[in-house]
Amino acid sequence: MGSNPNVDPDRIMEKEHVIQDGMDISGHWNRMFEQRVIWDYTPELIDKVTEVEGGESFGWCYQCAQCIPVCPVDIVGDYGPRRIYRRVQTGEDLFESKDLWQCTTCMNCLRVCPKEVDMIKIMPAVRQEAILKGNVPEELQKAFENTFDYGNPLGESPKKRAAWLKGSDVNVPLMKEKKKADILWFVECYPSYHPRGIEASLALAKVLNILNVDFGILGAEEKCCCDSQRLAGEVGLFEEFAEHNIKTFKRYKVKDVLVTDPHALNAFRKEYPKYGAKFETIHYTTFLAPKMGELNLAKKLDHRVTFHDPCYLGRHNGEYDAPRDMLKAIPGIDLIEMGRCRENSYCCGGGGGGMWLDGFMADHVSERLSERRVEEAVETGADVLAVCCPYEVSRFEDAVKSTGNEGKLVVKDIIELVVESME
Ligand code: SF4
Ligand code: SF4
Repeated sequence: MGSNPNVDPDRIMEKEHVIQDGMDISGHWNRMFEQRVIWDYTPELIDKVTEVEGGESFGWCYQCAQCIPVCPVDIVGDYGPRRIYRRVQTGEDLFESKDLWQCTTCMNCLRVCPKEVDMIKIMPAVRQEAILKGNVPEELQKAFENTFDYGNPLGESPKKRAAWLKGSDVNVPLMKEKKKADILWFVECYPSYHPRGIEASLALAKVLNILNVDFGILGAEEKCCCDSQRLAGEVGLFEEFAEHNIKTFKRYKVKDVLVTDPHALNAFRKEYPKYGAKFETIHYTTFLAPKMGELNLAKKLDHRVTFHDPCYLGRHNGEYDAPRDMLKAIPGIDLIEMGRCRENSYCCGGGGGGMWLDGFMADHVSERLSERRVEEAVETGADVLAVCCPYEVSRFEDAVKSTGNEGKLVVKDIIELVVESME
């Protein structure tokens, strides 16, 4: 074999006689270059992540970069598992880095990663440790404190959790009085307190009544499902709230739990069973889609509608069709898909604690994720952006204003469109 002038012959190793599995690979057939000296990265900082329970898969990254084009944060910034790994490899301590708080746990990277590097486990695990050391963005800490003190991240009075019903003539029974029901409707925080969430809650209550669903709510007995706080690293708080909610559910005789919020769906299906919960949970779109024929949808709406898949309904829990089936059942709605939809849907930026990190994120991205998504919705020519996650109405309405699209696009929960069509 000819010699390569760039290779130092003293660093080449070959064994004179080698028989491997009956094959003679003596001499140059087993030629190896000497062990490389690893000098350009810091394995200790990778190890620091992989040694945390939940952080193991961080070490499996082989830098293929498939995750980068699908990461919603990278589309408006400089992010994604491959970049984070490389930065940690070259000296960044993830436990103290800005990279720790930008991930929305949207799961799009895990969907495409050939090595199953799992940011949905890595991020909460590392964040939990960082929080214990007091390293947490101030605004996120405030949301944690509100949740701890008031049972909801908005800091609203826990006694007023059912105050959204005041002034409305719609019948919404409390489980405390009713004791048993087919459906326990877990209303959640934003649908109980946020003005736009309340409008969607009243619409859903109206539809449940029209369908003669036997349901009840917990009112002041309900506390935040706490899934986003868990993903943001507050695991202790999550455990306490899960135990409280499960204990409350057990007081009543119910068949299933109905949720407005995909984050609650995720918590109840995947996390609460670890703490003893034994109930089936269904998102309101999955519940109502097969019942749309029972509603008198007499009014033609004449809207071009595009739909945003919530990460925690779609990618995390596999429901893509029910919201679309509901929209298609409304007369006059022309459903147009955005380029990024279904499995590859973009993220509104609210998941994994992002709901309470807008100020922090502003320093690291060129525009909010919600603003990017609103621009995508406007590009379709739609005049309505339909949503079915309570984080999204307020996020997207703000983004419609900040991107100068007021008058072009309105944001509506699917259930609001249903009620509009009944009027
Ligand atoms: S897709 Fe997975 S293995 Fe590839 S760079 Fe991203 S995290 Fe690493
Ligand atoms: S989970 Fe989503 S936001 Fe987080 S790194 Fe993966 S693709 Fe990016």
